[in-house]
Amino acid sequence: LLYNKLQELKGNIRVFCRCRYDNRVDCSHNFPSDQEVTPLGSKKPFSFDRVFTPQATQAEIFEDTLPIITSCVDGYNVCIMAYGQTGSGKTHTMMGPKNDPGVNIRSIEELLRICSEREKVQYKLEASMVEIYNETIQDLLSPTPTTLELRAQGNKINLPNLTKKLVESKDDIQKIMDMGDKNRSVASTKMNSTSSRSHLLFMISLEGRDKVSGAVSNGTLTLCDLAGSERIAKTEATGQRLVEAAAINKSLSALGQVFAALKSNQLHVPYRNSKLTHLLQPSLGGDAKACLFVNISPAESNVTESVSTLQFGSGAK
Ligand code: ADP
Ligand code: MG
Repeated sequence: LLYNKLQELKGNIRVFCRCRYDNRVDCSHNFPSDQEVTPLGSKKPFSFDRVFTPQATQAEIFEDTLPIITSCVDGYNVCIMAYGQTGSGKTHTMMGPKNDPGVNIRSIEELLRICSEREKVQYKLEASMVEIYNETIQDLLSPTPTTLELRAQGNKINLPNLTKKLVESKDDIQKIMDMGDKNRSVASTKMNSTSSRSHLLFMISLEGRDKVSGAVSNGTLTLCDLAGSERIAKTEATGQRLVEAAAINKSLSALGQVFAALKSNQLHVPYRNSKLTHLLQPSLGGDAKACLFVNISPAESNVTESVSTLQFGSGAK
């Protein structure tokens, strides 16, 4: 029982490392086992729940995230995130190209499949899509650009006026994601930013109602393509770039602090230090199940950033 209690406090996070495939460069890292990666220049390997070499397919990547998708149908809050420098393969891992989809499409398809199998329960899936840019939350599915307020009620987080779209089929998912993507690029053109400078969150809420007893369960799935983790050179960062860099740094370090607090069973977890961690609070602590991909580049020229990404991943586990 005590162990269960501890587990509960600890949260439940699995960390996977994926090294990007690049046909122009040889991979500069070593993979001593399928749980270890030794970056160029390091003596000791970094260990994770799983390490994926550049040859890993989208299907193989998804295999390890599959079990927590079932938890979501069982009423848990589930969160899957991708962390890494710009160009390391976060969007490829989460969204992927249309002909070889990533975790996002695969997991929602799997949700739909499990729901249809459970004949005794009536499920309702709703999707929303938001972007966190410079510590403001933008609704990407509303007809006109809308900034959302975040309200906290105990451990519950609420985004009043958030647009939600019903998801009933695979086609619905793709349509919703395309619409959000379009709004995102319109917004970023207006703000003169790029997608790598903001966090993208795709959120699915899943309500299950038992057809006989009427009992209701609620699960959520949050899919998060984080802003690029690279350090911006001081000389480059002036004006708007400096504000962006500060906001990204604030939210990603807040995420690191939350992982550190959960890992060491601290009673106070500093969720409220950034919009990102505050919004993710129900999906990171308690009995939530999270999965973090740390994406690294295979290139020698990126090794400093890769090591810093691997350190971030180690800190979460
Ligand atoms: P990020 O989102 O971290 O900035 P991307 O996912 O956009 O990085 O990846 C950068 C480029 O590399 C893209 O053109 C993407 O299609 C390609 N890429 C990333 N990962 C892979 C992979 N595993 N296999 C093939 N191409 C990849
Ligand atoms: Mg990207």
